[in-house]
Amino acid sequence: MMLGTERLYNIDAYIKRFDATIIGLNDEGVILDRTSFYPEGGGQAGDTGFINRFRVKDTRFIGDEIVHILEESRRLNVGERVKGEIDWERRYNIMRLHSAAHIMEFFLFKTFGTLRRIGSYVNEVKDRADYEYDGKMSVEALKVVEAETNRFISESHPIVIYLDPSNVNLRIWKCSWMEMPCGGTHVKNTREIGSIRLKRKNPGRGVERVETYLAEPSNTAHERLLNNRTLKEL
Ligand SMILES: [Zn+2]
Repeated sequence: MMLGTERLYNIDAYIKRFDATIIGLNDEGVILDRTSFYPEGGGQAGDTGFINRFRVKDTRFIGDEIVHILEESRRLNVGERVKGEIDWERRYNIMRLHSAAHIMEFFLFKTFGTLRRIGSYVNEVKDRADYEYDGKMSVEALKVVEAETNRFISESHPIVIYLDPSNVNLRIWKCSWMEMPCGGTHVKNTREIGSIRLKRKNPGRGVERVETYLAEPSNTAHERLLNNRTLKEL
């Protein structure tokens, strides 16, 4: 049964709290009529947070439905009005890293030539991207990529998402001269990223992994305090 959830994170990636109605329940979790919880997909981790006072430990597509996975099964009812709140600190770091990783890739290709990306995943700690590559990316060359990425980020470029005119289901990420299809959540301006550090790994023959880290992840005590207060108010 396809219920369909309005995807608030596509309308505005900065929506932290929202009201919704439960439209489905199953063993795995809760389905809402609208949500700002991003479900794992497109190489981006699923959101965590709260529905009322119940901890959402992950958000995933199960079949066609966006399912909020609760830490423990709770007595909730279809038709019940609830308040949702995503773990904003975590999501904001994911948004910063996801945008940064796209920019990094353009400078990576500038240095190494266009490479085939064979996998990527971003969570609140890092973005990792695997590329087909024979040999070893040198530390010096990656330092150049890192410096060019950081210089570009510091120039405060706006980031926009637009729908492909020939396919409205295809979302395109655009920043200055850079463009690529992406369904993830992003910051509005590169200055929100701060600066990044790159690490190289070799996960296997013919594959090089580039990891992107934020120099300053957002996790201030102030933000935590604000979050706690909001949760108590729910
Ligand atoms: Zn993306």
